[in-house]
Amino acid sequence: MIHRLGVFGGAFDPPHMAHFELARAAIDAFELDALRIFPTGQAWHKSRTLSAPEHRLAMAKLAFATLPQAIVDPRELDRSGPTYTVDTLTELKAEFSGAELFLVMGEDQALALTSWHQWEEILRLAIICVAERDDSGGDRPRFTAPQAYKSRFRRLQIPALPVSATDIRIRIAAHLSVAPLVFEPVARYIEDHHLYQTTR
Ligand code: ATP
Repeated sequence: MIHRLGVFGGAFDPPHMAHFELARAAIDAFELDALRIFPTGQAWHKSRTLSAPEHRLAMAKLAFATLPQAIVDPRELDRSGPTYTVDTLTELKAEFSGAELFLVMGEDQALALTSWHQWEEILRLAIICVAERDDSGGDRPRFTAPQAYKSRFRRLQIPALPVSATDIRIRIAAHLSVAPLVFEPVARYIEDHHLYQTTR
């Protein structure tokens, strides 16, 4: 029986250590029975063209394989047209009736949250768990919860992890090692499929 269900979406292009640490910390901090990981569809908030869905799905499965509570869920990849977090949360609420939902994200996403489709409905459906993100050299604005909705937000403490998928893609295109930043099976998958050979 799932009482506390975590939800963690991302492009995961590629998934890296900070994603894993964030997932692990969320499971511990909020005593999650399960954490659903959602590689997002193409029409997400990213301006660049994402890698093919099958690659991002495969890499996410490899990256989170050692977390027993984590399940990679392909449903946002399967949706045609724009994918909205509110739709995924609504579906999960119906599937896991009685479960409390915890939507996990880094600070950069939290800063954009009030521009998301039906963001107030998102706050009604889920508690928002925000991890500080410290990979920008300190020049990024810090997130503060909107006053009227403070009770719907939680802070998630994770160690500062100066890593982003953008940095990883740049390193790979420059033939630099990404060894401590992504798990070995993910690094091998990237190499085998010749991903990120050029920065786009
Ligand atoms: P890109 O560099 O391509 O924008 P990314 O590294 O931000 O990618 P995403 O897949 O977009 O990775 O991120 C998924 C989620 O993980 C988002 O909520 C994001 O805020 C969070 N996240 C990613 N990296 C970190 C980090 N270093 N610290 C905290 N949260 C992070």
